[in-house]
Parts: sequence; C-alpha cells; structure tokens
Amino acid sequence: MSEMIKASKTLSKLDGRTQYLTPIFGSVASDSAMPSAHINEFPVEPRVADEMIREYLSIEGNATQNSATFCQTYMEPTAAKLMADNLEKNAIDKDEYPMTADLENRCVSMIGDLWHADSAEQPMGTSTVGSSEACMLGGLGMLFRWKEQCAARGIDYHTRRPNLVISSGYQVCWEKFCRYWDVEMRTVPLDREHLSLNIDAAMSLIDEDTIGVVAILGITYTGRYDDVAALDARLAEYNDAHPQAMVRIHVDAASGGMFAPFIDPDLAWDFRLPNVWSISASGHKYGLVYPGVGWVVWRGKRALPEKLIFWVSYLGGKEATMAINFSRSASQIVGQYYMLMRNGREGYREIHQRTLDVARYLAQEIGAMGEFELLEAASELPIVCWTLHACEGRSWTLYDLADRLRMQGWLVPAYPMPANLENLDVQRLVIRQDFSMPLAIALAKDMRKQIDILNGSAPADAGKGFDHSGR
Ligand SMILES: *Cc1c(COP(=O)(O)O)cnc(C)c1O
Repeated sequence: MSEMIKASKTLSKLDGRTQYLTPIFGSVASDSAMPSAHINEFPVEPRVADEMIREYLSIEGNATQNSATFCQTYMEPTAAKLMADNLEKNAIDKDEYPMTADLENRCVSMIGDLWHADSAEQPMGTSTVGSSEACMLGGLGMLFRWKEQCAARGIDYHTRRPNLVISSGYQVCWEKFCRYWDVEMRTVPLDREHLSLNIDAAMSLIDEDTIGVVAILGITYTGRYDDVAALDARLAEYNDAHPQAMVRIHVDAASGGMFAPFIDPDLAWDFRLPNVWSISASGHKYGLVYPGVGWVVWRGKRALPEKLIFWVSYLGGKEATMAINFSRSASQIVGQYYMLMRNGREGYREIHQRTLDVARYLAQEIGAMGEFELLEAASELPIVCWTLHACEGRSWTLYDLADRLRMQGWLVPAYPMPANLENLDVQRLVIRQDFSMPLAIALAKDMRKQIDILNGSAPADAGKGFDHSGR
C-alpha cells in the first residue's frame, strides 16, 4: 500500500516533465501506479491518461458475453454519437433546454400510449435514472394515495403501519422502498408450482392498510410474468367489497414494459386493466438505450397525488416535475427518443423477435444436453433458466459449470432462488440484441464441452498448452 502511494507521488512529480514527443509507453506515467487514495499533484497528458485507463478497464471482460445483465450492451454508432453530442445538457433545465424537455414529454406520451393509457384520464409520467427511481416513485404514489384514503375515512395514518404486497421474486429496489419509508413488506413466496405471483396467497395478505400490490412483468430470477389480469380481476372483487380502502396495482415492468407491447400486443397487463394505476420500466433494458434511463407513468391525474408534483419554471410558465433526481444528462432521454423514432413498432418487434429466437434456440440446446430441467424456456422474455436434474453420483454443481464457462469468458451466473425455494439453485441466461445466433451456437458448443470435462469424459487440458518446438 505505502509503495503504491509512493509510486503515485513519483508519478505526479515527474509527470509534469513529460515531453509531448515521448511515446505513450515511454512516458513516466505509463510506468507508474495510477492514483488511488490521493489525487496526483500534477496533470497527466490526455493521451497517456486515456490509454492507461482504457488498458486498466480492458481486462474486466466484455459486455456482450455478460449474459447476467438485462441492461443494454449495444447501441448503433449513430445513436451513441447523438447521445455523446448531448452529454452536456442538463435534463432538469427545462427553461434552458425546452426542446429536450419536449422530447422527454413525447417519450412519456409514446410510452404511456404503448401501455394503453387513455388520454381522457390525463396520464402523467416522467423519465428517471432507471427502474429503481421509477419504482420508488410508483411506491410513493401508492403510499400517498393510502394516506389520502385514510384521511378521507377520518383515520390518523400516523397510528397505522402501511404494508405492500409483492412476490418474493422482487428486485432489491422494493426492499429499499419499504425500508426507507417504513412500509411493511408482505412477500408472497414463490414455490415450484408458482414461479411468479401466487394470486390466492397475495389476496390473503391484503388488508385495509395495504397501499398496493406490485405485479412484476419479468421476475428477475426467472423472467416469468406475473398474471396481472388475474390479479386485476381479484382486486376488482375486493374493491367492490371495500370501497373505502381500495387496493390498486403498480406494475414493475422493468424488463417486460418495453418488450411485451411489441411481442405480446394482445396480453393485457397494462392500463387496459382498470386497477393498474402506475407502471414503471427501464429504458436501458429492452427499451434498448445504454444504462441511465427509466420511465414511470400514472394512468391519470387521480392516480398521482398532488403532493408528489413539484413545479419548475419552463418557458416563462410552469412545468411539472416528479422525479427524485434533479440534475442529470439529457443524453439518455435523447437516446430513448432516437430508439423510439428510429425503430418504430416494427423495428422493436423485429429486434425483440430475433432476440427471442436466439433464446429459444439456446433453451432447446440446453434442454437437449440431458443434465438440466428447464424452469423457463424464453416463453415470454428472452430468458432461459434451468436447474440440474437430480442425478446420483454427479460430482459437480451449477456453480462449477458457471466457473468453467467464466474461464471461457461467458458470464452465465448460478444463484439460489429466493426464500422458500432457497434450496433450489438455478442458472440463468439473459439474451439481448447483441447476442446473435453465431454467439449462441458458440456458447452451446462450449457448454457441452465444459459439461464433458466436468463429467470426466473429456480431458480438462484438451487443446491447451503451448508447443515451443517451433513446428
Ligand atoms: C432491473 C430491475 C429493476 C431495477 O431496475 P434499474 O433500471 O436497474 O434501476 C427493478 N425491478 C425489476 C423487476 C428489474 O428487473
């Protein structure tokens, strides 16, 4: 450690004397430790800093082979350049950048329309940094509506504890929401028969202090959609019987929100269902934008409590803002607008359908390998999830397979399922647009090879080693 610091101090002092003509890898900076605990005293030439940082980052694996993430790892160069050219704009300065603000409003309208919002209800929405912020806002909308409902019934909400009903396959942002705002999280366990929300169990957890039920369009663990229509029908009955304490749905459609409208247009999971009052999605998942953008939309004015709306000046008038973050670059919003305009419905459909075809091909291959039971074979999202068949005498686990695949650069994570199913280990592939068929064929081939090695039917060192004999 002390040597590292010494090295970085040396770097700073000497680097002030770097000659412009010195080649990058002849420079003192390229031969020293990069600053860590302390900022360096003197500047480093841009070309040297750039090369050093690029080189440092280059060894961490490539994003395309990362089948653990739902987040976009590819945008066409035109889109990336457009985004880079708008990095300096602050999305919150709506007065200064009214055209950018206009593009954001257009995105909210178009996405609300994809989710069948009815303009007569005056839907409202905003861009966010991602689904986490969007879910936080959706949750706050539910919490504030519950407070209003309590007030209307003459109940002091300070004396009550609000609760939220959600499947145990929730993403961590909901745990944050519940902890930050002291909301009791009532989780509905997943089980082998219910790899998405068990609706009977969810209904049994609801009471008059339930602020809402979260349905997930694409459970992170398996990619399964919750049956939002069935939940909506049950809540319609419940609300008829409890007109003073109605319970509505927020759909966390982080991955499905920008997928289902193009691939399953007839699936009613959105504002077509009367009890769906808000929806959130990540623009940077199947919305096809690089990380940093999400969306939340409320079905109408009555769904978004006034208290969550703040007003900023805009072209001499006022513009509503309800996001939590204030300053952030406009480039992700511009990128989302580009993707919507450039692709249109048909472009999104084509991209997503191909992605789905690749995922289904892999599901078929993985099923045919004989070792696995498929839990999800890209029936809805392009996600494949499997567990090991019970087999006497097998000496390896999914974690071993994940390790071996990682040695080849493939990131195919293995993990335990959530509470109640924690003894079930699964492995999951998330396919995105830039994981094309040739890569899928290569991955399937590699999986078979690694399984043979684990089963002891192929030598682990096959094809390895270097022949120095010069032949
Ligand atoms: C990814 C995900 C989130 C969090 O989204 P970010 O955009 O990464 O903040 C929330 N919920 C679900 C279901 C997700 O898949």
